[in-house]
Amino acid sequence: MPGSTISSVEVEILADRFNPQLLVHVQCDDGTSGTGETWWGTYQPHALPGTPVLPIAVFIDSVLAPVVTGEPCAAPDDIESLWTRMHRATLQYGHEGIVSTAMSGIDLALWDLVGKRLGRPVTDLIGPSKHDRIPVYASLTWLGDANRVCDDAQRALDAGIRAVKLHEADVPLILEVRRRLGPAVSLMVDASARFDEEGALRAAAALAEADLVWFEEPVSPQTDHAALARVRERAPMPIAAGENEFSVAGLERLAASNAIDILQPEIVKFGGITPARRVSEFAERLGLPVYPHNYSLGPSLLANIHWGFSTPAVRWLEIPWLSEGGTFPCGMPMPELVDGCVTRPSAAGLGFTGPAAQHS
Ligand SMILES: [Mg+2]
Repeated sequence: MPGSTISSVEVEILADRFNPQLLVHVQCDDGTSGTGETWWGTYQPHALPGTPVLPIAVFIDSVLAPVVTGEPCAAPDDIESLWTRMHRATLQYGHEGIVSTAMSGIDLALWDLVGKRLGRPVTDLIGPSKHDRIPVYASLTWLGDANRVCDDAQRALDAGIRAVKLHEADVPLILEVRRRLGPAVSLMVDASARFDEEGALRAAAALAEADLVWFEEPVSPQTDHAALARVRERAPMPIAAGENEFSVAGLERLAASNAIDILQPEIVKFGGITPARRVSEFAERLGLPVYPHNYSLGPSLLANIHWGFSTPAVRWLEIPWLSEGGTFPCGMPMPELVDGCVTRPSAAGLGFTGPAAQHS
């Protein structure tokens, strides 16, 4: 198709002390453009805001951008080819970690670009819609204080959201929050692997009365599937994990390890929308619920929404719920919610809006 050749790939770092964002803008020679986003690395207490994302940004700039620039990108099949090109070109770096994260950012931008070019929402390009709406849960930050947790949870409930995930590992605090929120609120707990195996088992037993929808990443290290499987065997609630797998193969290994009841893939870590379709396939084959991990209000959240609508196994979506009404630096507003659910996207591409969407 004339004008469908990729002419530039640019990264944009939106610095923020706790929630930086790394956007990727891809443009074709006719001016058509797409915006993606990828993982920001990790919070480094002693680093300047924005610097933890630099290794990923540099990898995109110096290795991946030259691989895709000059190549055609007019249809989903082109994205598959470009993904394969990037995958082959990066073998000697090791495919997981910074490489798969960097590839994810370009992949999301390519899907946005092709969706806009074809005038169709990305979800339509992934496959037929499997849902009318998908419930969201408010994913609170680490707070360590029951009053602050209840205040933030109440704001989410006031916005019509019916489920709240705590990032806490203090059992009495969690039980106190459950008591104050009442039994009608769906409650999840993400320990972010703060426990060793013994501590995780003690916490799981003590949290039985909290009636949790799931207990997430109870044990450290997150990547020890055998330890997680031992916790799951004795825990009285469903166990969820998956955000720290950086490939479809890793997610499949986790799913096959008897360690989880719920898979939580992070689309901007394991390679983007292109490989997400393979995650949908194996999860459906295994009858495994897929509740995507997401800690962004930006193209990354939108990618999960578009993927979610084409995937029967996706039955919850994670919305970061920053304390005291905090926002993400890209300025994207919360998606519109109906009865605590997101509705099927209708805008072409990913539908990214906000100040940073005006780039290029
Ligand atoms: Mg988590």
